[in-house]
Amino acid sequence: MMHVYADRVNHMENSAIREILKVTEQPNVISFAGGLPAPELFPLTDIRESYDRVLGAGDPSVLQYGTTEGYLPLREEIAAQMRAKGIKAEADNIFLTNGSQQGLDLIAKLFLNPGDVVLLQNPSYLGAIQTFRSYQANFKSFLTNEGGINLPDLESSIKQHGPKLIYLAPTYQNPTGTTFTLEERQAVARLASQYGIPLIEDDPYGELRYEGPILPSIKSLAAEDEVIYLGTFSKTLAPGLRLGWIVADQKIIAKLTVAKQGTDLHTSTLLQRATHYYLTHFSAAEHVEKIRQTYKLRRDLMLQELKFAFPTQARWTEPTGGMFIWLTLPEGYDTDQLLPRAAAAKVAYVPGIHFFANGESNSSMRLNFSNPTPEQIKQGINRLAAIMKVN
Ligand code: PMP
Repeated sequence: MMHVYADRVNHMENSAIREILKVTEQPNVISFAGGLPAPELFPLTDIRESYDRVLGAGDPSVLQYGTTEGYLPLREEIAAQMRAKGIKAEADNIFLTNGSQQGLDLIAKLFLNPGDVVLLQNPSYLGAIQTFRSYQANFKSFLTNEGGINLPDLESSIKQHGPKLIYLAPTYQNPTGTTFTLEERQAVARLASQYGIPLIEDDPYGELRYEGPILPSIKSLAAEDEVIYLGTFSKTLAPGLRLGWIVADQKIIAKLTVAKQGTDLHTSTLLQRATHYYLTHFSAAEHVEKIRQTYKLRRDLMLQELKFAFPTQARWTEPTGGMFIWLTLPEGYDTDQLLPRAAAAKVAYVPGIHFFANGESNSSMRLNFSNPTPEQIKQGINRLAAIMKVN
């Protein structure tokens, strides 16, 4: 039956993470594989009350079709939050999506012809790679030195490959947890403007800061409108809600509106109304602070356990925020091949290879520290060390 599908279907792959998550559903497996928040922190009661209030107010419009751009008071609220972060935005610059994953898909739909080049970090978020690939993009990366950008290489990649889009997650990146410095952000903003290339700044983790300075977004540093910023409530509220937003120039928002109409008309009216209620009646900032404190402890614990369990050879990133640590084993190890052994030892991770757009093999893995409990972190890192036999 393959021949009946469109060419682009040949470029659609099963998400490796979904396959690995099947392993993690088996009993007693400790999973560092998913990118899941800690479910015990979801503000269940406040979200329930928000839904009760908007449904109980006697206003049937909460169940009506809505505008494609999204519920205006929520867009105004998000615009105010963006301005507080130094991003110039009015409600007209905000576009609501079903999570930032949909934002990535809609932007790809707007900008990518088959064969167009997307310039990205190596490694990068695999959900973005998967989406761009389904629009038949080619991928080029630029050099990074232990998380930092090699700026001359970035500029020469732009000149050489003429990318149609640049995709970056500059703050507590998935999968490495690394963060661009202020100078790197300024330089990237300048390059995007100079060469007039749309730059996607994907920022799901920016609020999850455990130490270090609050760095300005690339969007807030850009003089022109090239930067398209993606935000989401997935990590600060709950990913199952499926609510995110795009901040962009009005001309881009107008195109996104047409693209989204063809996809799903608009994001759930009830979800947007309940989220707006939550943001304006409960203390979202306090909730994020609770998340920060919990994840910081888990990050500290994972780093400490790694030090005990891998005294030599292996190295890892020390993220100042986000949800992930990137562990690299010595040359010669293949984390993809080791995964069945890990599964047998009842511990799971995501092999690094899946985050490389052009599939370079490697000896790295992504470890999540937000979802496992402290006890699971201790046990799981020891199980990992035992199967890797590097200590
Ligand atoms: N971008 C990055 C970098 C991510 O890590 C994720 C989720 N893990 C997403 C986008 C998608 O997030 P969502 O659709 O839940 O907003």
